Amino acid sequence: MKMESKILGILGGGQLGRMSAMAAARLGISTHIYCPEEDCPASQVAARTFTGAYEDKKKLKAFADSVDVISYEFENIPIETVRYLQQHKPVYPDDRLLEVSQHRGKEKKFLNDIGIPTVQWAVAQSAKELQKIISDMGCSEFILKTARFGYDGKGQVSCRSGEDAVEKWKSLNSNEVIAEEKTDFACEVSVIIARDKLGQTAIYGPSLNEHRNGILAKSTVPVPIPGHTAAAARKMAEHLAGAVDLIGVLGLEMFVMRDGRILANEIAPRTHNSGHWTIDACTVSQFEQHVRTVCGMTVAPPGRHSDAVMVNLIGNDAKKLAPWLEMKFACLHLYGKHEIREGRKMGHVTLLKPKTAGEIENN
Ligand code: ADP
Ligand code: MG
Repeated sequence: MKMESKILGILGGGQLGRMSAMAAARLGISTHIYCPEEDCPASQVAARTFTGAYEDKKKLKAFADSVDVISYEFENIPIETVRYLQQHKPVYPDDRLLEVSQHRGKEKKFLNDIGIPTVQWAVAQSAKELQKIISDMGCSEFILKTARFGYDGKGQVSCRSGEDAVEKWKSLNSNEVIAEEKTDFACEVSVIIARDKLGQTAIYGPSLNEHRNGILAKSTVPVPIPGHTAAAARKMAEHLAGAVDLIGVLGLEMFVMRDGRILANEIAPRTHNSGHWTIDACTVSQFEQHVRTVCGMTVAPPGRHSDAVMVNLIGNDAKKLAPWLEMKFACLHLYGKHEIREGRKMGHVTLLKPKTAGEIENN
């Protein structure tokens, strides 16, 4: 008798695709990558790579024909590409969530519309409009962000109320900008949620996230916040996943305010850097849940058996591997990137503190 095995297609060739492809291989699922660059981190571990532009319909069609189901590993895939591929094969998560996550204004409006609070925000399409919304919002400090394509703190600039917002606007070199109240949060956390076709969920975190120069430096689990606040963060992610009828994985970044309120910051419609600890600290990682959910399998409980601290290896950190190689309970991951660049995520290390058998029961 034949054993049915699926082929998963992933748009994007970065480390998230690589780690999903590795999780897929463990389940006997092979992965085909579609990305514009050759020899990318994901293609090194995939069965096949289609190298082509996201606008190349002929190549996209060949890619779609070669797989059973399609997902993506970063959110700046053109929405038209996903809509074109959806005509040929299922794409999860679907284009609606992707469209919302691609535009900071649409994202915040969607969150607010489903009852999830955020910082005060407004979108401006001209310098004049920006001056007006800033004076209407009346906050002492703002962050201006390009509405699209920002990541790792790129495309953002801080602005005080007396400063020349128009000059700051120009520095962003974008015709659409979101102005957000700069909030003085107590800490930043994120929750990762996987949801399958049956609507069953698996939830990871929250993790405590610390950034350096706008880039995630460290994620810690469990998070040192009260249990009810952590539960509220999980509930927020679950509400969002239900509202978008998620099939796949999403990450929700949040600010925990000093009075205990939680404000949503950003949605990632995919696996998230703050969930890399799940590979080593859980029986089923965020990447395996990604593969399971998009390939039609059910989610599993995370099975967290260890507390964890995940440290990103950014730029030259990748040259200093000796201590990590020697350390007990340190799990080293390198992404196969050939060139070290400042601010580039080269790998990560997860430091584990295994729990006792009694403590594991509830995870
Ligand atoms: P991205 O991660 O896509 O670059 P974010 O919106 O998550 O963009 O911003 C990056 C970081 O900047 C956040 O993790 C947070 O530390 C800080 N930040 C973003 N928005 C605000 C805000 N409104 N108030 C205070 N800090 C913010
Ligand atoms: Mg972010």
